[in-house]
Amino acid sequence: MKRVAPSEHPRVTRVLLAAPRGYCAGVDRAVQTVEHALDLYGEPIYVRKEIVHNKHVVQELETRGAIFVEQETEVPEGEMVVFSAHGVAPSVHANAAKRRLRTIDATCPLVTKVHVEARKFAAEGYTIVLIGHEGHEEVEGTTGEAPENIVLVQTEEDVDELEVEDPDRIAYITQTTLSVDETSSIIARLKEKFPNAVGPKTDDICYATTNRQQAVKALAKECDLVLVIGSTNSSNSNRLVEVAREHGADSHLIDNHLQVDETWLEGVESVGITSGASAPEELVERLVEFFRGRGATDISELRTVDEDVRFMLPGEIRKQLAGSGA
Ligand code: SF4
Repeated sequence: MKRVAPSEHPRVTRVLLAAPRGYCAGVDRAVQTVEHALDLYGEPIYVRKEIVHNKHVVQELETRGAIFVEQETEVPEGEMVVFSAHGVAPSVHANAAKRRLRTIDATCPLVTKVHVEARKFAAEGYTIVLIGHEGHEEVEGTTGEAPENIVLVQTEEDVDELEVEDPDRIAYITQTTLSVDETSSIIARLKEKFPNAVGPKTDDICYATTNRQQAVKALAKECDLVLVIGSTNSSNSNRLVEVAREHGADSHLIDNHLQVDETWLEGVESVGITSGASAPEELVERLVEFFRGRGATDISELRTVDEDVRFMLPGEIRKQLAGSGA
């Protein structure tokens, strides 16, 4: 990273914040689930995988007593474990039952919706084309619902190469955090190749992913540079960088303001800021402060849509909260 003296700092005069940005209802629910579990049951609370894909959030929960593990098989018998927002395969529930683990499932209801579709299409005898990213936890969880029926595709080329037993019995579902535009091209290619392919009643790409991409498109048209706050393993955050670039802005993914590279700011007057669905707002505030400290005075928000989605906490937590009078 190039270091420069304060007087040499490139001058960013305008900062525009995307709205909506940051936490979605599923992430908010998952983080709150772990916080409540720690308060209600005390340490240790085990969490299978990162509860949401954000380093900062995971570190904060660790300091409060959460223990993050990769697999349920690492959790000592009889202990309590929270499953992350990305969802888990049925085999994970089965393993947990074998170890007599007490479980709280923080899977986002919009991911659960995709699991339900997978089970339904599988029961009806469809080959299910899952559009998503190989190795992503959500994809692993969804695939686990019907491993015999599901085939993963990541690109239009994958669709071209796809061979199935019965081309008239194809259903498709998608990961919730993909690029809206790219996914609709893949679905179009799939329907071209398999005209009788059927899909879910409503889109699998969730409202938060859709809204944040729409907001970053508007931002990219107004700004020279778009900074996206999010972790490198966050699918929806990576998509925001891609969408910003596709719509004319230079764009980078950063964990926090300390990762801003001076060379990105050369010749830049207006910077757009957004954050992935798992990134807390305090990281955005620190980035705004960073630019304010360098003389930016024109700081405003560009709102493309209002969001008011909320999800109820998992039943176990609600029951305990009601019992504790909290
Ligand atoms: S990004 Fe969408 S699917 Fe994922 S947790 Fe948030 S609301 Fe749920």
